Amino acid sequence: MSQDNMIKLECTECKRVNYFSRKNKKTLKDRLELKKFCKFCKKHTLHKETK
Ligand SMILES: [Zn+2]
Repeated sequence: MSQDNMIKLECTECKRVNYFSRKNKKTLKDRLELKKFCKFCKKHTLHKETK
């Protein structure tokens, strides 16, 4: 398994990294955006991929 496609998911509100994920080559072009629970904001926020 390669680590090359490791990405971080950052909360768009507090800018903290809350989740780690892996990307496959199919989705490599698009930036991931997921709604996830942020423990710092204490609510669901949009999380965006960051390096
Ligand atoms: Zn947050």
